[in-house]
Amino acid sequence: MMQSDDQFKKVLSHAKEYGFVFQSSDIYDGLSAVYDYGQNGSALKNNIRNYWWQSMVQLNDNIVGIDAAIFMHPTTWKASGHVDAFNDPLIDNKDSKKRYRADVLIEDHIAKIEAKIDKEVAKAAKRFGDSFDQDQFLATNGRVVEYAAKITTIQKRLGQSLEAEDLADVKALIEELEIVCPVSGSKNWTEVKQFNLMFGTKLGASVEHAMDLYLRPETAQGIFVNFLNVQKSGRMKIPFGIAQTGKAFRNEIVARQFIFRMREFEQMEMQFFVRPGTQKEWYETWKEKRLNWHLSLGIDANNFRFHDHEKLAHYADAASDIEFKFPFGFKELEGIHSRTDFDLSQHQKHSGKKLQYFDNETQEHYVPYVVETSIGLDRMFLAIFSNALQEEDLGDGNSRTVLKLPAILAPTKVAVLPLVKKDGLPEIAQKIVDDLKYDCAVEFDQKDAVGRRYRRQDALGTPFCITVDHQTLDDQTVTLRHRDSMSQERLPISEATQMVIKATSLSDWLKKL
Ligand code: ATP
Repeated sequence: MMQSDDQFKKVLSHAKEYGFVFQSSDIYDGLSAVYDYGQNGSALKNNIRNYWWQSMVQLNDNIVGIDAAIFMHPTTWKASGHVDAFNDPLIDNKDSKKRYRADVLIEDHIAKIEAKIDKEVAKAAKRFGDSFDQDQFLATNGRVVEYAAKITTIQKRLGQSLEAEDLADVKALIEELEIVCPVSGSKNWTEVKQFNLMFGTKLGASVEHAMDLYLRPETAQGIFVNFLNVQKSGRMKIPFGIAQTGKAFRNEIVARQFIFRMREFEQMEMQFFVRPGTQKEWYETWKEKRLNWHLSLGIDANNFRFHDHEKLAHYADAASDIEFKFPFGFKELEGIHSRTDFDLSQHQKHSGKKLQYFDNETQEHYVPYVVETSIGLDRMFLAIFSNALQEEDLGDGNSRTVLKLPAILAPTKVAVLPLVKKDGLPEIAQKIVDDLKYDCAVEFDQKDAVGRRYRRQDALGTPFCITVDHQTLDDQTVTLRHRDSMSQERLPISEATQMVIKATSLSDWLKKL
């Protein structure tokens, strides 16, 4: 297993070298926390988005999809609470002049205590061997219990002071915990201040008549303001959902960790409208469904955990994150929030338009409650990509770099390789490509020795290679090579291509959901 720092560096360089992710405006030395997806990255991103969309919209007859504009009437953001409350608490270190999110500094401190617990567990597991009972150890070991209690105390205090907007207490907590600036090592902090994360812009040609707009900081509001449009035009009956993917913008204070925290990013959100009083059930249902979606991609379940929120946002009556084990630790990948009737009620109030639903069963009018699932597409990309990237020891003194992407997400499903550039082999390979390209993303590659071409396809995450050699001329068979096992089998051309199409077809994966 690679050290996680090394693993993260490898992820960054691999993403660039193989055309997945580039720094934005690279030739001008880049723009901080903004990234471009290259030829393979955009394909992988499209495939992830598509898998999400199909599993939401196509598989559920009560979920429909929309595509709302990025620009919205400015009152939207007043109603949603973003103008007044979409703030992060920031703090500066006077010596390094570096700016931090105060809550993140404290969470990083908690992560250090968690790491101490992990260390104790690892030590004990080694000492006790097979008879080790982790749950019992966590519940009874004096030192571990003390660490866990410390974490709970800090989380409670942070939750309470953020809730009460007691920024002085957030600062006091940072001081009490003796948190130092990772750059200067000093405890010379400024006061904690609130910072609004929305980007402002203007609409209109003349200065006098220009209207202040915001770039949307989340896609959810485009769904809420269209609630009635969709419900009426689609004759939707509660419970039903509206899904959307699209860009969102946040002027993040600390933008680091690559595409984990960007200033321009993409969200995949689904708002599920339910009868008041049933939100708890639906919240639990969606927590489970979303975790299953992640697991359907074949990633080890140990890489996921739920984190139920202590501090609830102003709109929520329950909230949980699905956290993923990124190379830099467990962090939020997706949020599942029970948003009550907050958003629709707010829009009703600010627009003066009724946003109600008439329930035929109960013969009542009401403002529906909402359960939301919200995931960052870029974060999902990073989760999939970093988990897939592996350095494999081949046992003969050599190793290979392989990107073990789920077959349906791979940018290229199959590469067709003529063994040599002559004797009619490229023509046969080209014919296979031309036949396959209607069914899946296929690449023709005849440069370099075939072994090197296999390595290159491994690094790109291509699950299959079809190699055309001289025997193909005689009997119409080819070699089908599998990326993960590196095993090869000799098959008639049509069998090999059918196998590739089947293994990479979305429908077989969706059926497993
Ligand atoms: P964080 O606490 O990490 O700032 P958040 O709780 O503000 O995230 P939400 O508002 O719940 O995030 O947004 C939903 C999802 O959008 C998150 O789970 C995450 O995957 C994604 N997301 C949020 N902010 C960013 C960002 N700056 N860059 C990339 N993805 C993001």
